[in-house]
Amino acid sequence: MARYYMQYYFVVPYLLIYSVSIIDRILFSILNDEDNENLRVVKQFRRYIGFILFTEYSTGKRINAAFKDISRGLMLTCPRCEKQLPIDRADCKFFFETEIILCPHCFINILTKENIKVIRNTLDF
Ligand SMILES: [Zn+2]
Repeated sequence: MARYYMQYYFVVPYLLIYSVSIIDRILFSILNDEDNENLRVVKQFRRYIGFILFTEYSTGKRINAAFKDISRGLMLTCPRCEKQLPIDRADCKFFFETEIILCPHCFINILTKENIKVIRNTLDF
């Protein structure tokens, strides 16, 4: 019986993530102005990170390659100090919990419209 519960709790979160992804795709195809497009990208980026974190949690193994791919390709710019900021695992976890990405120099949220476009273009969302 415990095996069935383990299988259930392993599979259901993936099905929920997939379902929400489909619902978002349909909903944001109707709400297609710029603000909603940015919201869609933020939600998809958060779901992507959540998918990685859940997989790490459920398998007990760190997936460093996924976070390295994010940090290698994604370079955001702070609107205040204009420094180029790579995104690492800690930034991803913090973003997943708060939907905020902080500049380590200014401590302001760098999730601007321009940086959301960078996320969309870099990660092909
Ligand atoms: Zn800054």
